[in-house]
Amino acid sequence: MPLTIYDSMAREKREFIPADPDRVTLYVCGPTVYSYAHIGNARSAVAFDLLYRVLRAQYGENHVVYARNITDIDDKIIKAARESGEPIGAITEKFADIYRADMGALGVLRPDLEPKATGHVGPMIAMMERLIEEDAAYEAEGHVLFSVDAYADYGKLSGADRDEMIAGARVEVAPYKKSPADFVLWKPSKEDEPGWDSPWGRGRPGWHLECSVMIESELGETIDIHGGGQDLRFPHHENEIAQSACAHKGAPLAHYWMHNGFLRMGEDKMSKSLGNILLAHDLLKDWHGEVLRWALLSAHYRQPLEWTEELLKQSKQQMDRFYRALTLVPEFPPLKNEKLVEHLTTFLHDDLNTPALFSAMHGIASNIFTHAEEREALLKNLKRGDAEPDYKIDRKLVEGRIKEFEEKIQMWKGGLLAAGKRFGFFNEDPAVWFKGADSGGPSAEEIEALIAERAEARKAKNFARADEIRDDLAAKGVILEDGAQGATWRRS
Ligand code: AMP
Ligand code: ZN
Repeated sequence: MPLTIYDSMAREKREFIPADPDRVTLYVCGPTVYSYAHIGNARSAVAFDLLYRVLRAQYGENHVVYARNITDIDDKIIKAARESGEPIGAITEKFADIYRADMGALGVLRPDLEPKATGHVGPMIAMMERLIEEDAAYEAEGHVLFSVDAYADYGKLSGADRDEMIAGARVEVAPYKKSPADFVLWKPSKEDEPGWDSPWGRGRPGWHLECSVMIESELGETIDIHGGGQDLRFPHHENEIAQSACAHKGAPLAHYWMHNGFLRMGEDKMSKSLGNILLAHDLLKDWHGEVLRWALLSAHYRQPLEWTEELLKQSKQQMDRFYRALTLVPEFPPLKNEKLVEHLTTFLHDDLNTPALFSAMHGIASNIFTHAEEREALLKNLKRGDAEPDYKIDRKLVEGRIKEFEEKIQMWKGGLLAAGKRFGFFNEDPAVWFKGADSGGPSAEEIEALIAERAEARKAKNFARADEIRDDLAAKGVILEDGAQGATWRRS
């Protein structure tokens, strides 16, 4: 099945055909590193990580180049440095590291390239010089501004009327601007602000220019896919498109544009300015990264996703169910099942249809549970046949059926496990998964102590106390399972 993606520029699903299948290029606007990423930011990182994984599966791991930048010069960073008294470099390095660690915990692969804005100031100056030469930019009072009139297609991506866009963006009307829509490529730095020497004096780049230049330096003039959150379509991406096209004699910046929808808290977009944010870093203290990843991908990436405690609880339950299915009948471990992995991948070939993929995965888990039950029932029949001479049973037939179920369980497990891993799930050791720290509930030590007490009680034939301990733990969400080696436990 060919890979189709919704192209925000064409406003329709299009078959994805890379310019060069040996070098598929993807760029996503990355974080501005002055504080912790919230879970809405993480939605963008996770959605495009999934795309990256699908592209790698399709074209080969060494044939996809994914760049996600780090914006390490920005007014917000300067402000954070002032407030904390820490040097800018220390702040940006610290939060870039935290970002990488938090996204890693969400199963986000490191992009192939992580260009930093401060590492590209030379090429930024060169691009501005080219834009001035082309009459697409001009200098005014130490600023360099992009002349929006130089690019006829300005506004095509966001589709808004230019006057509306100007009003909507509340573009600063400065006396040195030729047109109010013109935006800043370079601005002068005050004495106490970070800056670089340039033909227009000491200053620093604007955010939009950074991405155009990092794409040019790291990936080339025209890339296959450019992604980011929906809020970046205007003005950020519109400006990137205009700058790059004018600097490259009209060559388009990207063949496909993809935008993820918002993560919401109730009616509102989760955003720092509204103050309704939950940090990925904090959520990871209470929830396994795979639970958060599952929750983030549970809605289609273009749809809004409402973030609730209920969503988290459901995601945890669903992941538990998969881990149980994968560890059921442990003497029959997963077997390689490439066909099923490929089949599951095709759900994502339809514009990353995660809801369809997830429901297919649930169907497979159900198959595993059903086959395990059927096998269990047949094993009982065999035992009964051994114990009761009158109980007629065709042993050979039943044994054949049991074997069939076991093989099926192994094949379903194999496909489910490998597909899950391909998309960033089931990487945890199941023993750790089921004993993992959970919010609330007794600690692992408390549980182990109670299990020991219960074993003693049973030895002493105090079954009432033994049952009481089991029921108490069950009420706290801990399930005990008695086995030959003693009791094991997991959280429900
Ligand atoms: P920012 O730090 O605001 O520049 O955002 C970094 C990335 O996260 C961008 O791609 C944004 O579009 C995206 N983003 C920010 N808030 C949300 C949200 N509530 N839901 C989805 N994506 C978001
Ligand atoms: Zn960008």
